[in-house]
Amino acid sequence: MKRMVTRMKAAVFVSKGVLEIRDVPKPSPKPDEILLRVKACGVCATDVHALYGGESISGRDPFPLIPGHEFTGVVEEVGKDVINVRVGDKVAVDPIYNCGQCYFCQTNQENHCEHLEGPGTTVPGGFAEYVAVPAYAALKFEKLDFDEAALMEPLATVIYGQERARIQYADNVLIIGAGAIGLLHLQLAKASGTARVVVVDLDKAKLDRAKALGADAVFQQRIEPSSPDAAKLGIASRQRDAILDFSPMGYDVVIEATGVPGVVEAGVRYLKKRGRLLVFGVAPHHSEIRLNPYDIYRNDWEIIGAFALNRTAVQSLSLLEAGIIKAKPVIGKQYKLEELGEALQALAQGRADGKLQILF
Ligand SMILES: [Zn+2]
Ligand SMILES: [Zn+2]
Repeated sequence: MKRMVTRMKAAVFVSKGVLEIRDVPKPSPKPDEILLRVKACGVCATDVHALYGGESISGRDPFPLIPGHEFTGVVEEVGKDVINVRVGDKVAVDPIYNCGQCYFCQTNQENHCEHLEGPGTTVPGGFAEYVAVPAYAALKFEKLDFDEAALMEPLATVIYGQERARIQYADNVLIIGAGAIGLLHLQLAKASGTARVVVVDLDKAKLDRAKALGADAVFQQRIEPSSPDAAKLGIASRQRDAILDFSPMGYDVVIEATGVPGVVEAGVRYLKKRGRLLVFGVAPHHSEIRLNPYDIYRNDWEIIGAFALNRTAVQSLSLLEAGIIKAKPVIGKQYKLEELGEALQALAQGRADGKLQILF
């Protein structure tokens, strides 16, 4: 029988700065894949870096690319070997497509798979009417709306980050940046038995949302090195401010959620002894920071990275389904596929009022 619909609408990153909505062939699932009819897909800083910077996690030129890695949808078709989902199921997608055979896969570090592929980063993603997905990456959900469940991926990255930063009971945590990611970090830290969670941003409206989601204090303040020599002069020269006065010995964990290199540089001045700085925001691929190695040595500091997610998708979806992490207050403006360019501009220019999403 001839398939009725063989074409679909998709956003395509054609080359640096060039985005087109195109009519492209509808994918058909391989035996171990499902075909998903996309319902919601989040817009992420990674998409901004890909379109405007030509940057990709693979290190290769990403173009042309159907972007989008934070999506949910309805199973439209299943390949003959698929056993975990059925047509009609609602699913979210873990975007770590790993080989299962390399050293990193064999040591439970799938996010560092040597043959890592990802929807919307190296293979076609969710800013399209349909997308083919390996069945092992599909996670069913019941109660959530499609836009809420589309927070599964960003929350899974936040869970992985906080695992890496070893958030512990009674920790004081400072989160720099109150965008969607900062608000997810806030909710997860609060749910993890921390003592105080403090959020800093420049935007009053974002801080109001942080306050409503349980921040113990919020500060409207720019975080930047106090002088060009700040790193050289070291921690002994740090000036106190209201953020430090709130936790006078400093913070056990500082989470950088802006992607601005200078914020990483300045963030260390809020660390307690044995403090851990989580570098979470996606900085431009070619940038640099200055840190004082004596301070790192003398204070037992840790500077911790956390790339993407690693087997944290199930936990993420469970926390969302249980309502422990509230999705709706984190979601910002929602757009149509044709408006993706507008949404990317808003995110790039710091005008996002929460997680921006495309709805279908
Ligand atoms: Zn993302
Ligand atoms: Zn691998």
